[in-house]
Amino acid sequence: MARIAVVGAGPAGCSAGYHLAKSGHEVTLIDKSAFPRDKVCGDGISLESVQALSTMGIYPQDLRRQLAEYAPIRHFFLGVSNQISHSEATTLEAYCIPRVFFDQFLYDKALSAGCLPLVQLVHKHTPQLQHLSETFDYLIDARGVYAGQVTAIAIRAYWTLRRQERLELDLTEAQIHFDRHLGATGYGWIFPVSTQGEYVKFNVGLGVWLDDRPKTTINVIRLFEQFIRSNRQACHLLSKAVHRDIPQVYPLATAQKGNRVSERNILKIGDAANLTDPLTGEGIANAILSGLYVSQAINMSANPAAAAKNWQYLYQSRFEADLRAGLKIKAFRRFSLMNTVLIWLMKQNPRVARQISHAVAGLVPYHEVFASLKY
Ligand SMILES: Cc1cc2nc3c(=O)[nH]c(=O)nc-3n(C[C@H](O)[C@H](O)[C@H](O)COP(=O)(O)OP(=O)(O)OC[C@H]3O[C@@H](n4cnc5c(N)ncnc54)[C@H](O)[C@@H]3O)c2cc1C
Repeated sequence: MARIAVVGAGPAGCSAGYHLAKSGHEVTLIDKSAFPRDKVCGDGISLESVQALSTMGIYPQDLRRQLAEYAPIRHFFLGVSNQISHSEATTLEAYCIPRVFFDQFLYDKALSAGCLPLVQLVHKHTPQLQHLSETFDYLIDARGVYAGQVTAIAIRAYWTLRRQERLELDLTEAQIHFDRHLGATGYGWIFPVSTQGEYVKFNVGLGVWLDDRPKTTINVIRLFEQFIRSNRQACHLLSKAVHRDIPQVYPLATAQKGNRVSERNILKIGDAANLTDPLTGEGIANAILSGLYVSQAINMSANPAAAAKNWQYLYQSRFEADLRAGLKIKAFRRFSLMNTVLIWLMKQNPRVARQISHAVAGLVPYHEVFASLKY
């Protein structure tokens, strides 16, 4: 049995803590915030995230029973303009859940598996971190995007509407917009996140890739305003909103080539290891799965150096192919005409449409899409 510190109690840290505590280790789960705490996010729990949650013994009926706010998602919409879009139904259900509830749920799960909670701010290269690596046998860094490499900027707003309003939008549909005016720089989303009560809540946002540009040259608030003005669905929702929260801006740590997932025997997971999907900014599934695999790396190793090697190996075999395929598709999208061609192809061929929608929804890995289209 080892003494393990997990710093950061987001989906990655809670998953690592859960699996390691279940394996019989003494795990301290450290976070700078006391829970419940919010995390700026699109709140999309993709089909891949739903599958990943099952590794922690969490199933859709648990989400439905125990969460105060959620929206079941049965349709995925991809749009490139007000005229050109495609919506695909799935037989499996994904979810959108405000992170303030979702993260608390995962935190409780980790504590019930035996993790010891500690509220403490731990900065990189500080005496605290040094102290932790001396006091514990293994140290896991799950502090999220600020511990990783920032590659994109995003903005998120919550809009509340009366349920009885006649809405043009389907309350079970998650929409991703690769709108033309956003060109190759980013994507927008419109996700219902709370659809059970008298009022319904939407998460509307936009992500912009930095692609070597400094953060300061991007005015994400202005881009967001443009998106809302020019996108028909966003415009429609806004006209019906009875309450709008102040939009929040937050960075993303999407995947990069040649990722290293440990640093001086400190094992990095989730956003701290840049595991987020480079195309859609979806990171919860990989955060949860990285917690599982890092626990396997520790369980199969005799010391932190061996665990770091094993974790890098597992990262390469489990994540790298898909993240690389995502990076390739993102590069392809630089030519924004390609988005229109893609939707045209989807309209021509239902099988192509299903595969691509499922890949964006996280059910089919990107690297399998092109291979499967041949058959
Ligand atoms: C606007 C936006 C929209 C997104 N939309 C989606 C989406 O719809 N679906 C999806 O799957 N993903 C989405 N993502 C990505 C997703 O939010 C992340 O990939 C996911 O949260 C990563 O989980 P994590 O546990 O690695 O990090 P986090 O969730 O960021 O958790 C890190 C934890 O570490 C703690 N912490 C940070 N610094 C310290 C410190 N110094 N000391 C102690 N504790 C610390 C924090 O308090 C936090 O609890 C979005 C991201 C953004 C910014």
